[in-house]
Amino acid sequence: MRRIGLMGGTFDPVHIGHLLAAEAAREAAELSEVWFIPTSVPVHKPQPGASGADRRALVVAAIADHAGFRLEDIELDRQGASYTIDTVVELRRRHPDDAFYWIVGADMRDDLPRWRRIEELAGLVTFIALERPAAGGLAEGERQPLPAYLQGRILDAHMPQIGISSTDIRRRRAEGRSIRYMVPEAVRTEIERKGLYGPRAVD
Ligand code: ATP
Ligand code: MG
Repeated sequence: MRRIGLMGGTFDPVHIGHLLAAEAAREAAELSEVWFIPTSVPVHKPQPGASGADRRALVVAAIADHAGFRLEDIELDRQGASYTIDTVVELRRRHPDDAFYWIVGADMRDDLPRWRRIEELAGLVTFIALERPAAGGLAEGERQPLPAYLQGRILDAHMPQIGISSTDIRRRRAEGRSIRYMVPEAVRTEIERKGLYGPRAVD
């Protein structure tokens, strides 16, 4: 049985916080692979700065050099609202012999009780939660106690703290500032070549 980590996100754009979270989760839970799942954004939500195709291409560039990381298009293919429960039910149907883990940063961990059909979802995946500074999430002491159905279903893993968000990167690009070292070099060159989130590179 393979142990598969699922890393969902808007990835608008993917950055080193996402990659380090995935790698830390892989190590902590001895995952065979991590699958990155860019979400398609429903029309009534704030729209991403880049198209699904562009966000997908950036993830592909970011993970190309890691044999254990791959892209999973399931949510982009589905269009419309992406609910994690629907994604997980479908992935389990496609891969009945694998065990699935859902990877989240601290901000998403605190949000879990509000996820659609969370109680059912908690029976289908083990969550892996990574600490994340500033960008979101409640401080340890402010956390609500977990509902019973999540207790024992979340593995807390550690990573070097990365105070970077996609929002920061979009803002920096809009201001014409550098994003070097905040994203893998292949991602930076693709963003600047296509002029995503800000000015096209002149060279
Ligand atoms: P945005 O600012 O647009 O919300 P983001 O940086 O939060 O972007 P998302 O695509 O929203 O990125 O996040 C996808 C997943 O990665 C979430 O589970 C989130 O908690 C996690 N994550 C994002 N950045 C970090 C980080 N720096 N450290 C740990 N986890 C992170
Ligand atoms: Mg976010």
